[in-house]
Amino acid sequence: MATEADEAKKPNFSFGVIADIQYANADNGYNDTRTKRRYYRNSLHLLRSAVMEWNEEPITPSFILQLGDVIDGCNSQLKSSKDALQVVIDEFTKCTSPMHHIWGNHEFYNFDRELLHKSALNSKHLGKMESSVKTQSNPDDHEAFYGYHFSPFPKFRFIITDSYDLSVLGRKYSSKKHHDSMEKLKTYNKNEDFNSSKGLTGLDKRFVAFNGGFSQEQLDWLNKVLTFSDNNREKVTIAAHVPIHPNSTNSQGVAWNYDEILSVLHAHTSVVCFLPGHDHDGGYHLDDHGIHHLTFEGVIETSPGSQAFGTMYVYNDRMILGGRGRIQDRILRYKQI
Ligand code: ZN
Repeated sequence: MATEADEAKKPNFSFGVIADIQYANADNGYNDTRTKRRYYRNSLHLLRSAVMEWNEEPITPSFILQLGDVIDGCNSQLKSSKDALQVVIDEFTKCTSPMHHIWGNHEFYNFDRELLHKSALNSKHLGKMESSVKTQSNPDDHEAFYGYHFSPFPKFRFIITDSYDLSVLGRKYSSKKHHDSMEKLKTYNKNEDFNSSKGLTGLDKRFVAFNGGFSQEQLDWLNKVLTFSDNNREKVTIAAHVPIHPNSTNSQGVAWNYDEILSVLHAHTSVVCFLPGHDHDGGYHLDDHGIHHLTFEGVIETSPGSQAFGTMYVYNDRMILGGRGRIQDRILRYKQI
């Protein structure tokens, strides 16, 4: 029988997190700088065992956050994008917890936005919209997908964001967003290959095509959702593909307009945590506004004997991360307000 002390240890709820699976039915390779091994086939085995472990947890996770780059861009050259996506979706389907999907740069190397909206990677239907926070754009407008949000437990909210709303990836060449994004990129990056940061120094290295950012309309949307959360004294976790704090990643891995989104988050009391992927080495920083920026290590660069996923146990005053393999255990205490 559970004692009072056991009850006190019980979280309000838990959720799983996994990033950068980048599956491909391809032999092992390397990252662009040839410094890290990439295990394309094995990433599927790691996903499979992550799903099995989540399913076997004594308290079933309320949901899973899949932080993007679920299949590798090389599938596009191999003409295996749809097959590879189906293979990973089949693994997700075995998970008893609902899966929230975020789109990363590798999604856009394989598919355009229209196809992604129609695919199993569109988890927008899992966003529960309270009437007072109906701030979503027209769901049929593929050019304007900012994200969605949901509250899995009273006083807790999660916001799924698209960190490629401002991007040259996944946008039609004729669109205004593609034009504006290209102008921004070209202002800083003078290389023929926009994926190269050659000649760029410090944080300017972030102006590469495989990164993206947040449009003004999206930041306005985020501001509205966070105002609602502030007024309702909620604790908000935001998930995205690209990190937004330079101290939580390398200088090349941060969102183009990270400073603008940080200003929005810092104007609200409700934000406690920002969870991205994208930088396979991971990272962590507690910023001066008490927001935990926790970048998840990528499955793709995780050796076959290890693992890279976690379960977050959510309490009233903190979240406790139970990491597997390369993911460290952590206690993330909320700021006092
Ligand atoms: Zn990425």
